[in-house]
Amino acid sequence: MHAARLWNYLYLALAESFSAEAMPELPAKIRTRLAAEAQLGLLPAALETDSSDGFTRKYLLRLADGEKIETVLMRYTGRVTACISSQVGCAMGCVFCATGQMGYTRHLTPGEIVAQAIHVARALRLSTLSAQLSTRREHAPARLRNIVLMGMGEPLHNYDAVMHAIDILRDETGLAIAAERITLSTVGVVPGILRLAQEMRPMHLAVSLHAATQAERAALVPVAKKWPLDELMAACRSYSETTGRRIFYEWTLIEGKNDSPDHARAVGELLRGLPAQVNLIPLNPTTGYDGAPTHSEAAKRFQKILADEFELPSTVRQRRGIDIAAGCGQLAVTAS
Ligand code: SF4
Repeated sequence: MHAARLWNYLYLALAESFSAEAMPELPAKIRTRLAAEAQLGLLPAALETDSSDGFTRKYLLRLADGEKIETVLMRYTGRVTACISSQVGCAMGCVFCATGQMGYTRHLTPGEIVAQAIHVARALRLSTLSAQLSTRREHAPARLRNIVLMGMGEPLHNYDAVMHAIDILRDETGLAIAAERITLSTVGVVPGILRLAQEMRPMHLAVSLHAATQAERAALVPVAKKWPLDELMAACRSYSETTGRRIFYEWTLIEGKNDSPDHARAVGELLRGLPAQVNLIPLNPTTGYDGAPTHSEAAKRFQKILADEFELPSTVRQRRGIDIAAGCGQLAVTAS
């Protein structure tokens, strides 16, 4: 009974302490013991930055050991999405990604992953966000309902902690984030994709492709040398066959590198027959990579080829938070 109450205080009331005020229905003896033996694991924000358009807020959160991570809140019409991190840094080394350029420090614990969602949920509940972020007269939803694991780190490199965290996020007596509102993005960790299928994990899966040949992909995503493109596509096919789920394939559009009509046809051929949607992401700038984003006309041409010649649905991702380095591939710990 006390455990159930504690759970509600933690994940429904989003309590910030074990005090009588925060947890009035827990006996004093239990609260005292919790305060002595446990930690709430709150992640204080060392810095909060708002984008100039008011739609994005980036949190630099401090971990108990002094490491820092970034979490991003993105505001769209009628919904907000938290982009959360799974590691301090990342070992995958994608050449255009600021997190990859940092290198890998350590995995996050399940608590540190969940604490990012709680940080955002608390900010929303306090309703400070809609007032501070809103340059338009739309209301930001008061509850966090959407999560993408697309922040710092490769989630499938930290598989057990990420799945434990997702189980907590989904728990219906707590934060109750629906599985269909959680998207996990991988750069192509083949054993993790197969395990997701085997365990029939119900959230959405996004696979970062970026190139349709092994040589081009390995130049952008070094981990492709470990798990080559044919192995990755076999794993994706197996995932879709086992789960019956469509995969979102992410394609960072880099001018002159992977944005030509031939590239569009190559990805169309690669995904032929697979339940797929392509998410096109014009490259976001980082100091460690000198590529440029594809112009919108070329992105539209790419999209049209996918649609007309392959009946492949695609979206061009809205660019959000670029001025505060909160866009895809831009997260890095830059301030203390
Ligand atoms: S894109 Fe993702 S997997 Fe690649 S280095 Fe960046 S954080 Fe890691």
